[in-house]
Amino acid sequence: MDYDVLILGGGIIGCAVSYELSKYNLNIALIEKDYDIANDVAPIDYSIVYDGLECEDISLSKLEFAGSKIMSDLASKFNIFFEKKGYLLLADTKESEKKLICMYNKALNRGMENIQLLDGEEVRKIEPNLGKNIKKAIYSKNTGIISPYDLAISYGEIACDNGVNFKLGEEVLDIESISKGFKVVTNKNKFTCNMVLNTTPGKNYSIDRENRVNQNVKYLEYFSVEKKLSKPYNNIISTIGDGDNKTCIIPGKENKLLVGLKNYEKISYEEGLQKISGFIKDLSQENIGDFYNSHFYDDFLIIDDSLIDEDYIKIIGKHYGQVTMTPSIANIVCKTVVNKLNCRLKKDFVDKRREFYKFRELSNEERKKIIKLNRKYGKVICYCNKVTEGEIIDAISRPLGARTIEGIKRRTGATFGDCRGTRCLYEVASILARETNKKMTDIVKDSKNSNIMVGRIKEFDEM
Ligand SMILES: Cc1cc2nc3c(=O)[nH]c(=O)nc-3n(C[C@H](O)[C@H](O)[C@H](O)COP(=O)(O)OP(=O)(O)OC[C@H]3O[C@@H](n4cnc5c(N)ncnc54)[C@H](O)[C@@H]3O)c2cc1C
Repeated sequence: MDYDVLILGGGIIGCAVSYELSKYNLNIALIEKDYDIANDVAPIDYSIVYDGLECEDISLSKLEFAGSKIMSDLASKFNIFFEKKGYLLLADTKESEKKLICMYNKALNRGMENIQLLDGEEVRKIEPNLGKNIKKAIYSKNTGIISPYDLAISYGEIACDNGVNFKLGEEVLDIESISKGFKVVTNKNKFTCNMVLNTTPGKNYSIDRENRVNQNVKYLEYFSVEKKLSKPYNNIISTIGDGDNKTCIIPGKENKLLVGLKNYEKISYEEGLQKISGFIKDLSQENIGDFYNSHFYDDFLIIDDSLIDEDYIKIIGKHYGQVTMTPSIANIVCKTVVNKLNCRLKKDFVDKRREFYKFRELSNEERKKIIKLNRKYGKVICYCNKVTEGEIIDAISRPLGARTIEGIKRRTGATFGDCRGTRCLYEVASILARETNKKMTDIVKDSKNSNIMVGRIKEFDEM
């Protein structure tokens, strides 16, 4: 057998499972079709760490609640950003008030702790920016915000350092059951293994007898708002919504806000701006940094181990709280595999991510010390986010290093400042080309064929 376990898909769940399994004496590989892990994780800086309050399904609610309890410890172990923040779920009509009270009672019956039902006056004491129309709110103290990409990268880097073989840019074409184990066919190789953990949404693999597709897809528009408010928001704020329309405010670092709008129909920038202006007073177009259109999945999510006797596990579905559920899903899957393969913990597992510097967060004294050791940290490449050449080289040369512009952006923040890369994109691309021995014309934004340069201007020999 080539491997004991093959993990298919390098999204946040694939990475988390690979991290958990890398603690054991197993020969593991992860196959991901993109050039980087977690390429499809939410395209925003922060994900909400939910607590299961709004999940209709009890199992999903439990997965979210368990995830929310682990997240703070995980973030401090991985040295990544996590902030505990309260969550206010608002009702502003008689109808939504009824729905909210019902949800509150359900949560109490499920044994959920740290939640309170507040009236309008109490809500405004906590969040003075909110209008007088708020009738009631559920206030939860179980929630927070985390960078989903940093979480996925941390899982991946530690797994890689502990021996998981990451095969990036390789697409799974089929999974076949053979007399002993499986044959996994990719666009580059054929592998055999004892066990398969499939986290891809692939629908046509020979092994899958039943194909389930996502039904419950809605649209999500995100605005990043850069507005100084006299009284900043302290909590995540969400309307309970009437099923289709829902607004959510996520306060991030430096007084910046992310505002999400959930709709059944895709809405335009102008419509979205009008909707959020009802929430945030004196908002103008100049306060909007970015606008993203995305999908919102309110689907089932199943750890399907119905073929566990044949050593096949599949994670099916997509859900808006999937980042929150990731640590609990990874733990469950890991326990199932360990029981099935009867494996032992490794003695030499290192549960630590290699250190790195974030220059913009260091004092001048600390910066000077590092520049003395490596002068590349003395050269700023991205002026908006104060990212140095040293940080970009480190992002490329780390385990599972960046191979795309998006990978460098997500790891370091370069090209993600106010000018959106106008000043530094060329320099970032040329560092990536130099460090990976590639031509500038081969450098891609994120996926295959997303080259950032169309071709060379023929009269120049060098770029
Ligand atoms: C806009 C938005 C906001 C969100 N906000 C939150 C939030 O606030 N809180 C929260 O908890 N969650 C949030 N989520 C949910 C969460 O980010 C995603 O659901 C989660 O990242 C999905 O991870 P995954 O690993 O399950 O799936 P994916 O990321 O889809 O992973 C599957 C991987 O498999 C790879 N793959 C697919 N086919 C193949 C193949 N044939 N061969 C090899 N590889 C393949 C894909 O490239 C991908 O990397 C949000 C999601 C979105 C879109």
